[in-house]
Parts: sequence; C-alpha cells; structure tokens
Amino acid sequence: MEWIRCGAAAAGVERQLGCVRQRTEVISIAFLRRLLGLNHPEVTVDPEEVVAPSQPMPIAPSPIASVACPNCGVALDPPPDHTRRCPSCRRQIVVRHFEGRAIYLTEEAVEVFEAERQHEIDEQRWARERGTWLQLAQRAGAPADRRARLAAAALTAVSVAASRDLYLAAAERAARAARRDKRWDEMAQIRRRQAAALHEEAGAHLPPSDEIVALYREGVAATLRKLAQVSRDAELVGAACCQACRADNEHIFRIADELRTPRLPHAGCPRGLCTCDWWPTLTSAAKKPRRRRAPASPRTADDVAPVGDVGADADSGSLRS
Ligand SMILES: [Zn+2]
Ligand SMILES: [Zn+2]
Repeated sequence: MEWIRCGAAAAGVERQLGCVRQRTEVISIAFLRRLLGLNHPEVTVDPEEVVAPSQPMPIAPSPIASVACPNCGVALDPPPDHTRRCPSCRRQIVVRHFEGRAIYLTEEAVEVFEAERQHEIDEQRWARERGTWLQLAQRAGAPADRRARLAAAALTAVSVAASRDLYLAAAERAARAARRDKRWDEMAQIRRRQAAALHEEAGAHLPPSDEIVALYREGVAATLRKLAQVSRDAELVGAACCQACRADNEHIFRIADELRTPRLPHAGCPRGLCTCDWWPTLTSAAKKPRRRRAPASPRTADDVAPVGDVGADADSGSLRS
C-alpha cells in the first residue's frame, strides 16, 4: 500500500525540515494533495518532492488492505477507525476522515493536514468569489485585459479583493456615464445589481448597511426618473415576499414624493432589498380601482388619499370618471 507509506514519509519530511516551516508546509501540502487525490492544475510541484501514490486512494480501506502505522510502519489489522496508540511503537496514530476517506497521520502531520484542509476550503471560496466579481466586472464594462490578468493570477484573498475593486470601479464609471446621458434604465440596473452584490457579500444581514441602501435607492430613483419623462405618477409593483411588499402592490404614488422620501426598499422586508419595482401607471383605469382594493392591510386606508389624487394629476384624468 503505497499511500500508507506516504504517511510515514510526510512525517519524516517534516522532521527533517524542522523549523523551516514555510518550506515544510509547501512540501507537505503538495504531498497531502496527492495523498487525498486533490491534484489541482494551478498547483505546481517539484517532481522531486512528489512521494505520491500513482493510484487514487480507495474510498475506504478494504478488509484485506494492510494499513500501516505512520510512525513505525507496522501493519494494523484491522485498521483503526479512530485515533489511538500503535500497539507496536505506542505512538499516536491520528485518524482523520476527509471526503469519505480515512487518513492515518502521525501527530506531527496533523497540524499540516488541518492547515491544508482549511486552505482547500479557502481556495474554493476564493474561486467562487473571484469568479462572481469578475463576471460582474464584465457586465459593468471593465477592460478585458485587466479581467484576464486577475483571472490568471494566483488564487488568493488579494486577487479576490482586486477583482472586487475592479468591478466596483467599473460600476462607478458606468453609473456616472449613464447618469450624465440620462440612460436611466441602465443606471437603475447598475445600481441595483451593485447593491444586491454588496448585500450578498455582507451575508445578507438585516438591515442592509446605509451604503447598500443608498446604492439601491439610486437605482430606484433612476427608474422613477425614467417614468417621470411620461408621467407624474408611478405604480408600485409589489413583490410577494412579505406583508410590507404586498401591502403597496398596485398602489399609485407621486414620483416627486418618492424621489424625496423613498419607500423602497420596504422597511421590514426579510429580503433586505426587496424586488418591488415602479411601473408606469396604466391608462386602462376601469379595473384598477377594484384591483387596488385587493390587498387587505392597515396601509390601505392611508393610501386612499394619494390614489384619489391621481385622477386630478394624471395625463388622462380618466381615473376620476
Ligand atoms: Zn418591497
Ligand atoms: Zn418583502
């Protein structure tokens, strides 16, 4: 069993290198990757250092497989299923389970193993986060060469942070250009997406930070400015997520009022940034009053006044009739 002998080899490598900790970890991590069958293309390893098994590890040791003590190499039959002392050398055999496989380690190798396992977890998270930021950066129009450079960089927390910065800078630039040219739809999309990304990054904790709410509201305001080109009023299309969002559904509000004191995102919405949106008021007024009465909530009584006002202000005035 080649891979069992590797356990002793790793411990040996560690002992030899002693206090040269950085180097110890590099070698041991490369070793553990192979021990665990976790070969990653981005990790380059000196072939000299590879003490790895050529065969992938068995999912679980079969009854006839001889497991050896990583300290002294004596065969252990049956293999230990938990950490215990070797019956021969009396030194500790540490049993760890990783992705359904049992691994037998010397006490000296455990710390390296745990560090490697944490590193694996970190790398997976970094890959996910960097991918997300770079995708957002692409949509925000960040230069392709800078995105490519970051995508090819070593996978570290630093490259994740740089990808985030690249996205935020591109979003800022795109939002400023959209505002200048009054491309309100684009502006709304940029800011809402940015708010959603930062909210998610912050763990979607409630309530969202002031900075995130401000970005979201810039997006909402852009939508309202677009609607203001054709009407003084806008209809709130409420999301179905909660009472606060449902209560305002299909209610009509003055755009000027909403720009001054935005009601979105709805306070108390469990999503933090609700997906409620503003639509143009429709002129087919005949059935709207009936629909507007549908959501039964304490707000409805308060909302009657602004809805009633709409007729006087609307372009068609048809709501009055
Ligand atoms: Zn809402
Ligand atoms: Zn809601």
